[in-house]
Amino acid sequence: MSLYDKFGRQITDLRISVTDRCNFRCVYCRSADPENYRDHDEILSWAELRRLAGIFVSLGIRKVRITGGEPLVREGVEEYIAHLKALGVVDLSITTNGHLLAERCDRLIAAGLQRINVSLDSLDAVKFERITRTRSYEKVMEGIEAVQKSRLAPAKVNAVLVRGLNDDEVEAFAAFARERGVIMRFIEFMPLDADRHWSRELVVPAAEVYQRIHAQWPLEQIPHEKSETARKYRFADGAPGEIGLIASVTQAFCGHCSRIRLTADGRMRTCLFSKEDRNLRGLLRANAADEEIVEWVKAMVMEKEEGHRINEPGFVPPSRTMVFIGG
Ligand code: SAM
Ligand code: SF4
Repeated sequence: MSLYDKFGRQITDLRISVTDRCNFRCVYCRSADPENYRDHDEILSWAELRRLAGIFVSLGIRKVRITGGEPLVREGVEEYIAHLKALGVVDLSITTNGHLLAERCDRLIAAGLQRINVSLDSLDAVKFERITRTRSYEKVMEGIEAVQKSRLAPAKVNAVLVRGLNDDEVEAFAAFARERGVIMRFIEFMPLDADRHWSRELVVPAAEVYQRIHAQWPLEQIPHEKSETARKYRFADGAPGEIGLIASVTQAFCGHCSRIRLTADGRMRTCLFSKEDRNLRGLLRANAADEEIVEWVKAMVMEKEEGHRINEPGFVPPSRTMVFIGG
């Protein structure tokens, strides 16, 4: 069985947010104010997540990324990864802030994880603290090092650039990619922050990042899959490392989007920017049969938006922010 939307796009990727909790408070994501987390019983149990994974794999999902909140704060992630692997997921990855990564890296890999993305928004410990509102810079660096020493090297390191905050570090991040041999990915700031500070002026366009790095170290494009979000580049001088540009705001890649999302509280989203999400948990907990869930998912996918409308007048950011959606 395969999942198609009404624009003929086949849906093969699923992002699963396993928790809405996080040990960081990144300024572009969570609020500094205390936030209400969902009650524990609103969050899908591992048993529910295992059942849904089986249904999604039967529907042709081949690629799963585990995210959150911070996925490593929830006990049991390794066991869930092993379950996904056993189900036949062929591309299994995680996005983490890296705080707990050094101590968990081996276990995650042993469970079957194939790729690790670590968020790192500054190479300056003081600025890192200002952005994440934690003092975890060293721990995140250790996490990246652990990936680099493992068979999953090179690590993908994600930086969200915010104008006036860390856009002065573009060249330093590129130098970091060259020195450490990591894949340095720059993500445009999206209107999904809890404090609603996003504005177009705060977005650092991927084209600018390209020009700045290319001026210092010429870049060569690496071919990419149509559904991939990042445009990828290597250094023309043969230095190690790679650059990825994710232009989610300035050059949307919705046309080839093959992705859907499951939030920690069991809601499905067909786009990061969907105005509303759909309550799968309700169906699950009403003892729906697998066939019923399959039909529900197929109908939901049919409604996947053609693309986001950030660049259109009257765009309204979704009420759910990144930490609740799962990036
Ligand atoms: N806590 C983990 C982490 O930070 O890597 C995983 C969840 S986080 C929501 C997933 C990704 O979304 C991270 O790379 C983070 O930098 C990114 N992100 C969060 N808020 C964002 C925003 N407003 N715009 C662009 N990316 C954002
Ligand atoms: Fe937590 Fe990740 Fe959001 Fe930062 S980006 S607050 S680490 S969920």
